[in-house]
Amino acid sequence: MSDLDFFGHVIDGEETPSVDGGTFEVWNPWTQAVWATAAEGGPEDAARAVASSRRAFDEGPWPRMGRAERAAAIHRLADLMEERADDLAALDTRNMAKPFAQAQHDVARSAWNFRFFADHQRDHCGEVYPMDSGHHSYSEYGPAGVVAAISPWNFPLMMASWKVAPAIAWGNTCIIKPSEDTPASVTLMGRLATEAGLPPGVINVLNGHGDPAGSALVADDRVDRVTFTGSSVTGKRVMASAAAHLAPVSLELGGKGANIVFEDADLGNAVRWTVEAIFRNSGQVCLAGSRLYVASGIYDEFMALFVAAAEALPIGDPFDPGTRFSSLASKKHFDKVSTYVDGVGLDGGKILTGGVDEDGRWLVRPTIVTDLPLTAPAYCEEIFGPVCVVNRFESEDEVVGLANDTRYGLNAMLFTENLSRAHRVASRLRAGTVWVNCFFIRDLRTPFGGVGDSGVGREGGNFSREFFTEPKAIVMQIER
Ligand code: NAD
Repeated sequence: MSDLDFFGHVIDGEETPSVDGGTFEVWNPWTQAVWATAAEGGPEDAARAVASSRRAFDEGPWPRMGRAERAAAIHRLADLMEERADDLAALDTRNMAKPFAQAQHDVARSAWNFRFFADHQRDHCGEVYPMDSGHHSYSEYGPAGVVAAISPWNFPLMMASWKVAPAIAWGNTCIIKPSEDTPASVTLMGRLATEAGLPPGVINVLNGHGDPAGSALVADDRVDRVTFTGSSVTGKRVMASAAAHLAPVSLELGGKGANIVFEDADLGNAVRWTVEAIFRNSGQVCLAGSRLYVASGIYDEFMALFVAAAEALPIGDPFDPGTRFSSLASKKHFDKVSTYVDGVGLDGGKILTGGVDEDGRWLVRPTIVTDLPLTAPAYCEEIFGPVCVVNRFESEDEVVGLANDTRYGLNAMLFTENLSRAHRVASRLRAGTVWVNCFFIRDLRTPFGGVGDSGVGREGGNFSREFFTEPKAIVMQIER
């Protein structure tokens, strides 16, 4: 077996199988074939991983290291990720049919996550509060301890790096459990951490299913922080389990993003981003613009352009350089998305283009749906696939009401050339991020997270610092 067809746990700087020798199959959804196996973590493996990270935190050099030295070690890991960028991208492509160019983009952003937080922790060390009382007060942000990080399969490397990077940059040690659907790239990242010289236990990788591997990790009372990205249903379980030992949680959950195109939008720009927002990564994006609202006055013109652009997307083998859209990440997910698409007709909706592929692939073509009642599951629930449900609107008030009428609140988009309207509507939308005339653009200093069923807490820049540290106030008497 080579190191690219078996993905073990990486614990204490070494790759190891599970204690009981258990494994699971790793699939390529495009070829519909098994191409590797991975270690099936159980409670004993989770306990081993936590013990290792605990030791590394309580006794090891990492939390005690100078900030510059820690930053240098993290930059070394980012260097190695960039050197192995095509290998990492190929693992994500093979593992979930992400078009290779998109996987390369994700790897670059993953390495950048490490670089950003390595530097951020050097520049954002604390605040000084001058006091009129003859005292001097300042804050200190010390590491919180052992972090359990759990990530999903849609951006396998990027979502993991988004958690691991701030956790370790702030001096914590971390166990990352990737999704059972996509163990490959995160395991390689764990191997690279060892190669970069990070002390054993600073980044441990635990492979396996949500239950028992993930649940054992979250329930372990030696864990000080839990950062989770995944579905809202699992997020609630994770929060309840972490609450039993009072570990703070950061939850980045599902979404049902509203995308509003006003009459005065630049149509070319709006169509370009609307396609990107719902069909990138074959629609498997928490931030997807899955509810589209188009102003009545431009509805026919916009929809003609949108349908044509969706139909022009090159679909195929994710390794083909021209491919921009491919199959869904697994058979299980294909079945889930297909059920929603099959329900459209039954609920009285119309499929303008797309639908489930008939050739036996786990593929749902870029799908655009109209005429669905606002109570239909495909309209209300997160499909997490390439299905865009469209409605027209007459007024700003009406569309803000429609956009906010959801349990989710991760993100929204709006397209308008009217500056006042852009600010006014952005402010009224109930969402963690609002994009105006664009999508998916992100500055790592800004807050990221959702309201309602889309999550708890924010990460990014100082928001990550607050979560991954124990802020402390120090008060000194100056005058006696
Ligand atoms: P999921 O909830 O099924 O799984 C996510 C992770 O949790 C996996 O690693 C899984 O093994 C683990 N897990 C499952 N049960 C667990 C348990 N009881 N205890 C601990 N861990 C457990 O989600 P998924 O299908 O992998 O990902 C898709 C979901 O993720 C979508 O809802 C999507 O919107 C969401 N997502 C959100 C964001 C965001 O930033 N808000 C980003 C990407 C994906």
